Amino acid sequence: MTSILYIAGAGRSGSTLLASVLGQSQGVVDVGEVWKVWRVIGEPGRRCGCGSELVDCRFWGAVADAAPGVLDPDPVMLATIARIGRARGSAKLWTQLRMGRAGIDAYADRLARLYAAIVDVTGARVIVDSSKMPGPAMVVESMSDLDVRVVHLTRDPRAVAASWGSRKVDPSGTHHLETRDPGAVARAWMTRALATETFVRRGADTYLRESYERFAVEPEAVVDQLLSFLGEPTGSPAFVAPSTVLLEATHSTGGNPGRFERRERVIALDDRWRTELSQDARRKVERITTPLRQWYGYR
Ligand SMILES: [Zn+2]
Repeated sequence: MTSILYIAGAGRSGSTLLASVLGQSQGVVDVGEVWKVWRVIGEPGRRCGCGSELVDCRFWGAVADAAPGVLDPDPVMLATIARIGRARGSAKLWTQLRMGRAGIDAYADRLARLYAAIVDVTGARVIVDSSKMPGPAMVVESMSDLDVRVVHLTRDPRAVAASWGSRKVDPSGTHHLETRDPGAVARAWMTRALATETFVRRGADTYLRESYERFAVEPEAVVDQLLSFLGEPTGSPAFVAPSTVLLEATHSTGGNPGRFERRERVIALDDRWRTELSQDARRKVERITTPLRQWYGYR
């Protein structure tokens, strides 16, 4: 049975890097935010994690050959994707999934074929899907024939707000990653975390909460813990030193610019928010994210 490691959590929480490190292990493949594949596949100039334009990438070409039509972004599919991507609609989606799925079947079938094609092409036992949103996670968990494990990556919302406030250029071309107001980031952080805790979290054998902060400080221990959680051998080949990884290309289709790096990278805690976030923004974020923030240990 194919295992899916679904990375849930807020954007800018280190999920791109974590997925990429996990994907270096034998039998594990990182394909980025699978949820977004249909949205980005047709975008002109959009590049894959391997550096090719998505339309020219040999990996995604092989996936399309293994399951003809599986990557076609038809309008019904795109509408379903937009709907399940809204964290605020999580309660409704949860009900729909239990009442008879209401149009989500077509999406789930397509996703099942996509995962199967990825296994055909790579021979992987584990697919790392860093879609992050609770809605797509609920759909994946509702699919039979998959062994779904969720790692919920948390990060201090003040750090997430500071990161969303700075501009990053996406080397895939013309895209700047968007910037967002701290209040909006804090509300989205709360909505997504609560939906994940309420609707995605299941038993201890399928759900693990881990923090960006621990990953940044003890990356090898966190990666080993996740490999054990998946039943895979520990000892990631990505590490050339305790906090240094050598990352080979992955075929992730979305995420932050870090995914294009194919060189040694030192993993270190980014806590620039302590100086970069204004007092005003900090107070706003703290007000909105209390008390869940403290419960996660972010004082
Ligand atoms: Zn590629």
